[in-house]
Amino acid sequence: MHADMDIPPPPPPPIEVPPPPPPSSDLPPPPPSDPPPPPSDVLQSAAPWPIAKKRKLEGAIPKPQPLSIEELLAKKKAQDDAAAKPKFLSKKERERLALEKSQKAVVPPPQPEKHAPVANGRPNGHGVHAPNGYAAHGPPPTGPRRGREGPPSGPASMRQNSLPNKGYDMAPPPPPKAIAIVDGAQTNGKKTAETDVEAEMIRQRYMGADTNTSTFSAKKKRKRTTEKKFNFEWNIEEDTSVDHNPLYATRNETNFFGRGKLGGFADDKDLAVARTYAKAVEERDKEAGKERAVEIMEMERRRREEGGRNGIDKHWSEKRLDQMRERDWRIFKEDFNIATKGGSIPNPMRSWKESGLTKRLLDIVDSVGYTEPSAVQRAAIPIALQSRDLIGVAVTGSGKTAAFLLPLLVYISDLPALNEFTKNDGPYAIILAPTRELAQQIELEAKKFATPLGFTCVSLVGGHSIEEQSYNMRDGAEIIIATPGRLVDCIERRVLVLSQCCYIIMDEADRMIDLGFEEPVNKILDALPATNEKPDTDDAEDAGAMQKHRHLGGKDRYRQTMMYTATMPAAVERIARKYLRRPAIVTIGNIGEAVDTVEQRVEFVSGEDKRKKRLGEILHSREFAPPIIVFVNIKRNCDAVARDVQRMGFSSVTLHGSKTQDQREAALASLRNGSTNVLVATDLAGRGIDVSDVSLVVNFNMATNIESYTHRIGRTGRAGKQGVAITFLGNEDTDVLYELKQMIGKSALSRVPEELRKHEWAQQKRGGKGERKIEDSGGFGGKGGWGITL
Ligand code: AMP
Repeated sequence: MHADMDIPPPPPPPIEVPPPPPPSSDLPPPPPSDPPPPPSDVLQSAAPWPIAKKRKLEGAIPKPQPLSIEELLAKKKAQDDAAAKPKFLSKKERERLALEKSQKAVVPPPQPEKHAPVANGRPNGHGVHAPNGYAAHGPPPTGPRRGREGPPSGPASMRQNSLPNKGYDMAPPPPPKAIAIVDGAQTNGKKTAETDVEAEMIRQRYMGADTNTSTFSAKKKRKRTTEKKFNFEWNIEEDTSVDHNPLYATRNETNFFGRGKLGGFADDKDLAVARTYAKAVEERDKEAGKERAVEIMEMERRRREEGGRNGIDKHWSEKRLDQMRERDWRIFKEDFNIATKGGSIPNPMRSWKESGLTKRLLDIVDSVGYTEPSAVQRAAIPIALQSRDLIGVAVTGSGKTAAFLLPLLVYISDLPALNEFTKNDGPYAIILAPTRELAQQIELEAKKFATPLGFTCVSLVGGHSIEEQSYNMRDGAEIIIATPGRLVDCIERRVLVLSQCCYIIMDEADRMIDLGFEEPVNKILDALPATNEKPDTDDAEDAGAMQKHRHLGGKDRYRQTMMYTATMPAAVERIARKYLRRPAIVTIGNIGEAVDTVEQRVEFVSGEDKRKKRLGEILHSREFAPPIIVFVNIKRNCDAVARDVQRMGFSSVTLHGSKTQDQREAALASLRNGSTNVLVATDLAGRGIDVSDVSLVVNFNMATNIESYTHRIGRTGRAGKQGVAITFLGNEDTDVLYELKQMIGKSALSRVPEELRKHEWAQQKRGGKGERKIEDSGGFGGKGGWGITL
């Protein structure tokens, strides 16, 4: 190609009349005035030739006469002038010219298999004649490039071989199918069709192909719309008629083994089927059959475990214990507001029957009238029965006393009965409580279960003489219930040893710390045998490892420590970390919130007199049956309010720190046995005190902090019963209004009154805990007491 560039254009060929184009030419014959297309091998220099050829042809017929120079110049000038003049073309001529131009531009598609031999591996390569007589490069250029005579020299010319279309000035649009008709045998006749096609081609050439042709199909639309409509064809399964074709008389059911049926098998009977199938699979498939058989049996095992879908859909209460799945236990725990924390915690118990308690104990539980276990009992008893350390977080009145007592009694039942020698080695278990009242209350509860089993419970509390208590222990006591102060006193006086005590329960641990008992509690725990402390390893969470020591009894058994608390202040945490090993933590309900069985009402009543008057109205309303507890903040108010209550016509007793132990016990006893209607008390009675069926708590003075308020109102609504708490509010209570509003807002039974909701002090939390100094104080200790004030 580069060589061509150096070659000058070839001389004009000898003058001859070109043969007429063959009739079978693909394109209509060119008009006579047009020169025939030049041979392809002179294509690049073809443009100037037609004029010269014509001139020579013209000269060949008459005798050629040489023209003079002037003539030649004149003729040339005339020709130039004529060419310079604008030439008028009629519309017809213009159409004809346009048509001719388009015909030249449109190259019929190559037909490689017939006409186009492959040159250089490509159809219509260089030097190959196109069927229309043009060279493969296309028609002679007519556009602006026409002036560019000579071989191409630009970079594009280098690419000619690799890109076949680059030879065209402008690639024509792909010829529509109709061209083939025009190109083929349709040349004669059918002029109209041909013209239409040509016109279409021209239109496409100059206007571009149609792109916005509608694709709308009425047929498709009809199909789409009818699809949505009701289909009158019925389902084959709905056909209940008898098939008369004997071939289909007995149909075989599709066996979707492992898929169509739940878990692979319809019911328990299918275990045998599963085995047979697994065996068949194993025999048939020598390579992977064994593996598949194992999978099939595993699938069946899982299905049985899950108890089938029916089992999953059932509520836990309708399931057998062995059908309970992880999910059921979750629902169960949610139902009872139980949350647990710690490793390897056993599932809660759903009923007394499933508790694992001894038959003897279950009979006693039944005789006491506890038909259903409470939430804390459900969660804590199975844990305690595994000899596991435990931290229980439960509100007062939730039944936690029985929750720790019953497993304790199981443990003691396994130990040898105390005898002449061992009775002086101290109790098998101790229960610590913050107050005398609570200790005595626990003693009462413990005796319900322990006495029928032949065990002795003794309480060691201040207010009674040590001698008297020592006398009570003369025959030995398996269980000692004590306040920390009095117990330390007894240990230090050698009235009591703890050499075989391996079971410790701390009730209301946070309260014990509040009352300053951290040191005595530590002393007591340090006085226990140390050789049998649990290891601080995973074994402490392992029921099996703990169980091994269970039957050894006494000193050789691991120590089990349990703690019940409502909150976890730092001091309680310290004790827990020091003395508990890998404890399970059980939380019942939302701690710090009042039990949801109490309807909380508040009234803004200012001044003692108005409050007394209002209290009278409440008591006379007969809405509330005795016993009723009225809380006041200062002890001298107790007696004053109690007197007013008596004047109103109701019997009343008081309970506060200045009363002797006997007076306190007598007061509680008279309330419990119904001889007194109203108890007027300070916060001393706010925690842990259990008087059955208290229908109403009146806060004659609002508690100084929200925790005390929670404990006070927790005296009612106990053991699943509903109760009411009415609180009088005044200007002195601004510090607790926000928290009070929050707490009432959370209670489903209660409504926040407008006055509280809009109160300016109830809009945001006040700094600190809003605690005020409590005036009421009184020695708690009796002999050896710890001077705890309230
Ligand atoms: P406690 O929280 O241990 O002080 O118990 C509060 C009250 O609930 C006590 O009077 C118990 O006798 C009573 N109680 C405890 N457990 C149950 C139970 N499972 N069914 C009925 N009452 C119970």
